[in-house]
Amino acid sequence: HRADSAHEITEALNQLFATEDEVLRQTTQAAREAGLPAIQIAPAQGKLLQVLAAACGARKILEIGALAGYSAIWMARALPADGKFITLEIDPKHAEVVRQSLERAQLTDRAEVRVGSAQELLPQLKTEAPFDLIFIDADKAGYPGYLDWALTLSRPGSIIVADDCIRNGKALNREQARHDAGVAGIHEYNSRVAAHPRLVSTILAVELEDFIDGCAVSVVLPE
Ligand code: SAM
Repeated sequence: HRADSAHEITEALNQLFATEDEVLRQTTQAAREAGLPAIQIAPAQGKLLQVLAAACGARKILEIGALAGYSAIWMARALPADGKFITLEIDPKHAEVVRQSLERAQLTDRAEVRVGSAQELLPQLKTEAPFDLIFIDADKAGYPGYLDWALTLSRPGSIIVADDCIRNGKALNREQARHDAGVAGIHEYNSRVAAHPRLVSTILAVELEDFIDGCAVSVVLPE
């Protein structure tokens, strides 16, 4: 009796817990047609973000790094009708695809994309804070700085999630971090959230083909 392959198990789990509808499928297709890289989150991670949004009663969600809007749709769908989702995207071409995706998903009443570098846009969000859920998924070298902003723009009970925090083990290895600014950024992010007195954190691994990656998940504790 042969065990199912990792791929078959993932398919079965997605079917049960994280089914993509037509709008999500169209989003990845539009991204492909626009020549964007297929580096969006997996369906089960989209569902994880919805679970976390429900856990913190999210009414305001912030994303750093939009790509084509795939993760944006998962998160904006977790909001009440009067909720607010903001995603920051540096590449105007990506941002245009995101706008079209949000329109197709009929989420423009609660979801918007802001174009520019997150480093420039984050300081402008102070008046709209606190955000209940913050998802970090942009340039990896920027992760430590994004953590500082996430702490500034959150409240006790907010949840901070960062994607790509394992990189097949590279991001946990100090030696590897020495040679790559992206890996160094994630390494520092992991070390800081693991030890931060105002956070309780863990990493959830996902197996992607022959590669292990995952999200760091942190909850902001009371002062
Ligand atoms: N969250 C998306 C999803 O799962 O559907 C995937 C995001 S993709 C991994 C990273 C995105 O971050 C790219 O679209 C890239 O252009 C954007 N990005 C890179 N550096 C950035 C920066 N400094 N500020 C804002 N966005 C940035």
